[in-house]
Amino acid sequence: MAATTAMSPGKHPGGRTPVPEVDRPYPSAFPCGGQILKAAVLYKAGEPLRVEEVRMDPPKNGEVLIRIGAAGICASDHHVMQGTASFPLPIVLGHEGAGTVEQVGPGVSRVKPGDRCILSFAPSCGWCHYCRTGMGQLCATHRATGSRMFDNTVRLHAGKEDLFQMQKLGVFAEQAVVPQEACFPIPAKVPMEVAALIGCCVTTGVGALINRHGVEAGATVAVFGCGGVGLNVIQGARLLSAAKVIAVDIHDHKLEFAYRFGATHIVNGKREDAVEAIRRVTGGGADFAVDSFGSQVTTGQAIKAIKTGGTALIVGLAAAGETVPVDMVDLVRNQKTVVGNYYGGVSPQETFGKLVDFYLAGKVDVEGLITRSYPLEKINEGFEALARGEDGRGVLVFK
Ligand SMILES: [Zn+2]
Ligand SMILES: [Zn+2]
Repeated sequence: MAATTAMSPGKHPGGRTPVPEVDRPYPSAFPCGGQILKAAVLYKAGEPLRVEEVRMDPPKNGEVLIRIGAAGICASDHHVMQGTASFPLPIVLGHEGAGTVEQVGPGVSRVKPGDRCILSFAPSCGWCHYCRTGMGQLCATHRATGSRMFDNTVRLHAGKEDLFQMQKLGVFAEQAVVPQEACFPIPAKVPMEVAALIGCCVTTGVGALINRHGVEAGATVAVFGCGGVGLNVIQGARLLSAAKVIAVDIHDHKLEFAYRFGATHIVNGKREDAVEAIRRVTGGGADFAVDSFGSQVTTGQAIKAIKTGGTALIVGLAAAGETVPVDMVDLVRNQKTVVGNYYGGVSPQETFGKLVDFYLAGKVDVEGLITRSYPLEKINEGFEALARGEDGRGVLVFK
């Protein structure tokens, strides 16, 4: 997940034409038929989330009201809580979610009430350079408007304060108004918890490999970090019939857990040199190394651990401002490729569809990732478990 960029109101550099104010059936200020719901709000970095009642405006042009079914607890939310990712505050966090359409605003044609949907935290405007060239995950209009709606305004309020919704979602809430472009309808047999996880960690992890050309059967893949994303990179490698999948982490229990998703070898980076171990197992270096964690150390190791002509995929988001030194001679002489990879590397909705099919065919394990579930009121306990490095994914489940 990328940090969002603030922009001045009314400016739409992505090329999407703003909807003229006169066309909107609802005034932008509350009260205008909005409602009260419970949400987990981050007021200040370093503080716990506050679960409280907030006010929500009805959906505007092209927007829908979703009743949230489930939401995943992801490290990207935790970065915002710790102040290592920059998002506007106060904000309702949560970008890995799924729910059911309850109400649609004017001009909505893609979904209808009752549709169960995976929610994308990178909805595409359809008009910017990236959307037009098949890279909706990089939508410029979405990046410019970030945690506001596409018209650059907000739908949530607490007292006199406006609240942002993380990446136009903010799924740590009973309901959310989101752009219709965020919604991907799914069959009834996909459980909400599964749909929520496809919304971030499964797409980011499995997508990084299945959407990358050149990952052939028999490839060797090293994966740094065995959190929600890392486990999905590992099962993506299994799905593509990688011959050796080397999981690297600093927690033995996480490495044991990684075996369940297809790791063939495990390396505890605290006890041994991960680069040396990967070179030993692969006979000189991996075809692909994926940094699912995102740090100077792990990205540096991923680049060193690939073979001549190999590729390092950087998937995990490091703390804002973090940099990595690269051995330039190694990079050039060994013709290595180092690539950033965001949200599966292609339009997320493309990956969602494939993952739903894989899930229904029993080819990706999503339930197995879910180790704990919480009601919204206990959300801070979920983040404490994440900070302790517990296995798998914690999920909020809404009744
Ligand atoms: Zn995430
Ligand atoms: Zn766009």
